[in-house]
Amino acid sequence: MDLFEALLPHVQSPIRYLGHELNAVRKDPATAEVSWVVAFPDVYEIGISHLGLRILYHLLNDREGVACDRAYAPWTDLAAKLSQQNLPLASQEWRRPLKEFDVLGFSLPHELCYSNVLAMLELAGIPLRAQDRKSGRWPLVLGGGPCASNPEPLAEFFDAFLFGDGEEAALDISAAVRAWKKSGGGREALLNRLAEIHGVYVPEFFEPEYQADGSVAEVRARKSGYEKVSRRIVADLGSAPFPTRPLVPFAEAVHDRVVVEIARGCTRGCRFCHAGIIYRPYRERPAEQVLSLLREGLQATGYEECSLLSLSAGDYSGIENLLQRVVREHHAKRVAVSLPSLRVQSLKGQLMKAIRQVRKTGFTIAPEASSERLRRVINKPYTDAELLSTAEEVFAHGWRTLKLYFMVGLPTETDEDVFGILDLVQEIDRVGGRYGHPQLNLSVSAFVPKPHTPFQWEPQIESERLERIQGEFRRRFRRGRIHLKWQDPRLSRLEGIFSRGDRRLSRLLLRGRSLGLGFEGWSEAFNPAGWEQALAEAEVDAAFYTTRPRPETEVFPWDRLDPGVTRQFLLRERQRAFAEAFTDDCRIAGCRESCGLCDLKTLKPRLSPDLEPMPEIEPAGARVPPPARPELPPELRFRYRLRYARKEAARFLGQLEINRLFVRAVRRADLPMRYSQGFHPLPRLIYGPAPPVGVASEAEYLELELVKRVPEEEVGQRLAQVLPEGLAVLECRELPLQSPAISTMINLFEYRIEAPAGRGGEWFTPEAVQAFENRATFPILQKREKGERTVDLKDRVKDIQITPEGSLRLWLRAGAGAGVKPSEVVQHVFGRSEEEVKELTVMRLRAEFKESRAVRFPGQAVRMRRR
Ligand code: SF4
Repeated sequence: MDLFEALLPHVQSPIRYLGHELNAVRKDPATAEVSWVVAFPDVYEIGISHLGLRILYHLLNDREGVACDRAYAPWTDLAAKLSQQNLPLASQEWRRPLKEFDVLGFSLPHELCYSNVLAMLELAGIPLRAQDRKSGRWPLVLGGGPCASNPEPLAEFFDAFLFGDGEEAALDISAAVRAWKKSGGGREALLNRLAEIHGVYVPEFFEPEYQADGSVAEVRARKSGYEKVSRRIVADLGSAPFPTRPLVPFAEAVHDRVVVEIARGCTRGCRFCHAGIIYRPYRERPAEQVLSLLREGLQATGYEECSLLSLSAGDYSGIENLLQRVVREHHAKRVAVSLPSLRVQSLKGQLMKAIRQVRKTGFTIAPEASSERLRRVINKPYTDAELLSTAEEVFAHGWRTLKLYFMVGLPTETDEDVFGILDLVQEIDRVGGRYGHPQLNLSVSAFVPKPHTPFQWEPQIESERLERIQGEFRRRFRRGRIHLKWQDPRLSRLEGIFSRGDRRLSRLLLRGRSLGLGFEGWSEAFNPAGWEQALAEAEVDAAFYTTRPRPETEVFPWDRLDPGVTRQFLLRERQRAFAEAFTDDCRIAGCRESCGLCDLKTLKPRLSPDLEPMPEIEPAGARVPPPARPELPPELRFRYRLRYARKEAARFLGQLEINRLFVRAVRRADLPMRYSQGFHPLPRLIYGPAPPVGVASEAEYLELELVKRVPEEEVGQRLAQVLPEGLAVLECRELPLQSPAISTMINLFEYRIEAPAGRGGEWFTPEAVQAFENRATFPILQKREKGERTVDLKDRVKDIQITPEGSLRLWLRAGAGAGVKPSEVVQHVFGRSEEEVKELTVMRLRAEFKESRAVRFPGQAVRMRRR
C-alpha cells in the first residue's frame, strides 16, 4: 500500500480518488513526449461529468506521443492529510505528482472555482505565480473554458489561456510543447511559440494601466504583432473528435449517462447570456453522427441513460425525428433518453409527441423574468399566455415536477417586475391544480453581468436590495407546495467581483488562499466571513467591480480578447434592450443584425440534414407505465451464481457502486438478462452479504437471472471481460431456479487481517485472544449513521487465531442480527483506537455455506480469465 492509498480509509469518500475507472486510458505520462494532466477545480463527481474535459482527455490520448491524465480538487479532508504528510497532489490514474507533467490544463467553468485552482497548485507544490516558475522545470499552467473569456483575475497565476474551442487548439499546444522540448530554450521561448497559436492568450505579453479612479486606462500589448487574441472556433462540429468510449465513474457523477453534444452555440440572442456569445456561431452535429456516437457510447459503457446535449436541445433541426430514432433504436435495451434544456416555444406539436417517450425526470422552463416587458428587454419575448400554456402541456403530458428559473437584478427591472414572479408562479401552480398539483421548484438567482455580452456595462444588483427581495420571497413561500431555491447573495457578489475583474484581484485570491478559503460552491465549505476578511486585507472595493455603472467608453480588462462578436453589435443590442426591440435568431431569420463573427463561407451557422421521419412507436396521449407482463414460466428463467473478487482500489467501493458496476457490466456483456418491470426496469441482481468498505475480498457472491440458457462458463467469461480493474469473476454456476437465496445460505466468513507496517507481533497478542476467549460476553457499542447499538462480540465471532506469520485469522458469523466489522473486533479485543484500525489490511478469504439439498456451493471451480 503506497502512502496515498494509506490515507484513503481516513477520508470521507475514497472512491473519488481511485482512478482506473472503466474506459480510463492507461498511457504512461512518464514515457510520453508530451504529458498533460487536465484538471478540474472541483470535486470528482462534478469534474468527471465535464464534457469539455472528457473530450480533451480522449483526443490528447489518441495522439501518438501524447499522454493525458486527470486531476480533480481533493475535498478538504484529503487536502489536509496531503499537507500533513507532505505528499504532493497527484494525478488520478498514475498518481504522478502534477508538477512532473509538461502541461497542467485547468478547466475554468465559473468564477467561484478560482480559489480551488490556487489550492490545487499549492497542494501540488507548484509556485503560484507564473513569474516564480520562470526558472526550473515546472509544468506549463494553462486555463480554458468559459472563464478564459476574461481570465484577468487569474492572469498572474497562469502561463497561458485558451480562448474558445479546445479540440484543434489543444493539439497545436501539444505540438508547440513537443517542439520546444526538442529545441530547448527557456520558458520565454515556449510562451513565444504559444502566442503564435490562434486562440492562445499569454497574459505576460499584455500589461494593463489604470486611471486614478481605478478603471483601466489601457491594456498595453508588449509583444509586437500580438495585439489581439481571437477566439478559436471549430467551424464544423461534425469534423471535431468526440469520445466513443466515455469514462464511467465509480462514484455517482452529476451527469451519469452517455452524453452526446448535438449542437454548440445558440443564437437566440438572450442579452444577458455569456454562452450565447462565446459559443457562436450555432453549429449542429449531423444527426447520423449523433446516432452512431450514442450507439458506440452505450455499448462501451453499459449506461442505461443517454442525453442529447446543447444549450437548447429543442432548437436542433429535426429534433423530433432524431428523438424518434434514438428511442426506437434503444427502446428494447431499456435505455432512457433525457433532454437537458428545452425552450418554451420549442415545446410544440411533434416535439411534444417525441418527448413523451423519453424519461420524465423533471422538466425545466427558464422564463428568467416575470413581466413581458422585462422579457422583451432581455430578448426572450414570450408572453405569459405562452408560458402558461407550455406549463399546461408539460403537466398534461405527465410530468410531475416543473423547475422554473428566474433572475433578479436584470437591467431596467422594477420591484413590480420582481414581485410579479410570485404572481406568475402562483398562476402556474393554479394550472398545475388541474393536474393533481405537480411539484414546482422555483430557482431564483441574481443576475451577474458577464464580459462580452450586451449587458457588460450594467451594474449588478446591490446586495441589500437582493437580501430584501429574498426575504420577501422566503416569507411568501415559507409553506406550501412551491419549493424555493436561492443562491446566497454573498456568493453572487463574489461571482460578480471576479466576473468583470482585473489583474489586481490576484491580491484577493492570494489572501483568500492564505486564509484557507475554497469550495465556494459548497454551502458546508463557503466561508463568507473569510471572504470579507480577504476583501478588507487585500483592499478590494467590491462595489467597484459589481454595482458601478460603466460608461460605454470604458476600457475593459478583457478588451484584448476578441470573441469575434463586435463591440458595436453589443452596444447596438444594449440600445435595443432599452428600446425593448426584438432581435431574431440568425439561424432562422438569416444574418440581419450581423454580430461580425461569420464570413458566411467557412464560418457560419451549420444545420444538420433532417432524418427521415419514422412511424410513431407509441399511440398519442400521455405515457403510461408499461403493462405488467405475466411472470415468465420457469422454463424460460435461468439462474446463475457467481463468486467474484474485489481487490485493490475496488475494495473502497460501497454496495451501491458495486451494483451500478454490475448492472452496466451485464449490459456490456450482452447477456439476455431478466429485467424488473415498470418505467425504469433493472436487471435482477441479488448479492450476498457485502464486506465493509475498505475490505478486500475473494468471497463475494452475486446471483443473476437470464431469459435464455447460456453455458455457465460463458456467463462468467463474458462478465469477466467487461469488469473494471479490481473486480474479477472467480467462479460461475448455474443453479436450480428454486435454490435458496444467497443471502440465507452463508454461515460464516473467514478473514485475514494484517497489522500496519508488519507490526502484527505488537498488535496481535495471545494474551488478548485468551482474554477474549475467557469472557462469557463481550458487549461493544457500535456507532452507525442511524444511531448507536450494543452488540455482543461473543455472538458474532466464532474464532480468532494468530498465525505464525503474525497476521490474524478471524471467523465471523453471518446471517440475522447486527453484523460487526473485522476492524471493530481488532479495535475492542486488542485495544486499538478507531483511527488506528483504519490502517489494517483486511481480506475476506472464504465463505462457509449452510448445507442445502438444492445445491452445494462453491462447487467445482470454473476458472475465469480476465482480458
Ligand atoms: S455573423 Fe450573423 S450568422 Fe454569424 S453568428 Fe453573427 S448574427 Fe449569426
